[in-house]
Amino acid sequence: MTVEVIRTIAGMRERFPETSAALVPTMGALHDGHLALVRRAAELSERVVVSIFVNPLQFAAGEDLERYPRDLDADLAALAPHPVEAVFAPDAEEMYPDGRPRITVSAGDLGRRLEGRSRLGHFDGMLTVVAKLLGIVRPSHVLFGEKDAQQLVLVRRMVHDLDIATLVDEVPTVRAEDGLALSSRNRYLDADQRRAATALHRAIEAAASAGDRGTDAALAAAEGVLKAEPLVALDYLAIVDPETFAGVDDDRRGVVRVVLAARVGTARLIDTGLLHLGR
Ligand code: AMP
Repeated sequence: MTVEVIRTIAGMRERFPETSAALVPTMGALHDGHLALVRRAAELSERVVVSIFVNPLQFAAGEDLERYPRDLDADLAALAPHPVEAVFAPDAEEMYPDGRPRITVSAGDLGRRLEGRSRLGHFDGMLTVVAKLLGIVRPSHVLFGEKDAQQLVLVRRMVHDLDIATLVDEVPTVRAEDGLALSSRNRYLDADQRRAATALHRAIEAAASAGDRGTDAALAAAEGVLKAEPLVALDYLAIVDPETFAGVDDDRRGVVRVVLAARVGTARLIDTGLLHLGR
């Protein structure tokens, strides 16, 4: 069945006057990771909305806004077998009729660390569009992927701090058979780069294997894997508290999160995983 496409905010309000839908916000170029969110959304609500919007506000200067893959027909075909009631696909003019909005959401300190440090303004732009989407759809649930773990923590914090009446749900990272996390940006990779990009996942596994020797050993193990791959240019690698994203000391024990970003060719890729420190 073809999924209905709604282009306007007024159209969304009319179609979804109730607050019972589950919303899956995306930038399109849909893959199985997005579809895992859709499947989870369908478990949470009978009414599933997927938004597709390449949000200019969350791209830093010099990033891939212009060439980010856009193919609505392919996205609709990918969604067709799934129980999606509507796709909300506004253009930038509909979302930002006055250009950059005068009032935006600030992601605070965490928004300026790690991913936010490399991508200035990214998280403010992301939270601003998520706040708008939550205001437009007023969903009972909103779904995000673990792959963008810092984004997920920030969205949870915004929903909590601003008393937004929606439940945030998380879906584990979907990977290719060789471990590479699925991403719309993987299509920028040529064959050699695609092979090299598995180093991100291998680094997370190496960190997990070294976790019994503590934070520093886990970081060193991950770094070793990444450094051995000349096509991978590491941006950051860190082990953080999974709830707060604060850095952790070498004597930390228990479950923590490893996060990393790297450039492979012209693609900037991120990955993450949980690991256990100590015996
Ligand atoms: P994007 O279209 O890249 O903005 O992603 C839209 C949503 O899909 C975000 O919540 C992402 O975290 C999630 N997502 C992207 N890739 C994956 C993946 N490989 N596994 C699970 N969720 C993903």
